[in-house]
Amino acid sequence: MPQSPRAYIYEIFVGLQGEGIYVGERELFIRFCGCNLSCPYCDTKYALVKASTCSVEEEAGTRKFYKVSNPIDADELVGLISPLLKNRKIYHSVVLTGGEPLLWCDFLVPFLKRLKEMNLPVTLETNGILPVELGKIIDFVDIVSMDYKLPSTLDGSDYSDKHLLFLEVAKAREVIIKFVITRNVGFSELKNALMLVRKIGDFPIVLQPVSPSGGVEAPDELALLRMQEIGKELFSSVRVIPQMHKIGGWK
Ligand code: SF4
Repeated sequence: MPQSPRAYIYEIFVGLQGEGIYVGERELFIRFCGCNLSCPYCDTKYALVKASTCSVEEEAGTRKFYKVSNPIDADELVGLISPLLKNRKIYHSVVLTGGEPLLWCDFLVPFLKRLKEMNLPVTLETNGILPVELGKIIDFVDIVSMDYKLPSTLDGSDYSDKHLLFLEVAKAREVIIKFVITRNVGFSELKNALMLVRKIGDFPIVLQPVSPSGGVEAPDELALLRMQEIGKELFSSVRVIPQMHKIGGWK
């Protein structure tokens, strides 16, 4: 019999959503290992390699963890998260995060089918450049929270074509688009990207000032106000929301 697909998972825990328009909601986070990008401002570098074990919170909100061996199959993962979801009505969703969860789409198909049977909403947090992989799981996802990577925040690489293909698939679901803003981002760079996105739809836009680290600097307030103004000329909702988990000391 063929082996069921397995994934490397870094950690599983209950927490408060720290980013985007659902900030403060109670979520069950599943953080997958590995990523196909290496952003200079990445704050989950620890999860970019395949960890030999996955840390699982013993009980919701205790921050006591036990370890299980990687890789993990769908049945095992359902068994690991079920005790944390005893009171499932107080959860906003199960958040697939990373790293880049879509690297594990073959694993996600059977896993997300199981979540659907359990009637749990699913949020996918993604870098938004794997449209084919998204197509394999889009039927099982409720919210797609995608990054739009501006070249000046990376090494100059332009992923706009991939982002737009990705959005064409994602728009079948609720979509939130997050732009991480560093001090290097220019007004015209942001405006051009927003104009491309607007051709596909009027999505909620989040401008997230980068949490400074490793020499990457945040924009000032006046720059953010101007960027919001630019965005509001095109989109109904453009909010500036920093990483609240960093400010609040949340996990
Ligand atoms: S896409 Fe996300 S997880 Fe991957 S390197 Fe960039 S910030 Fe980190």
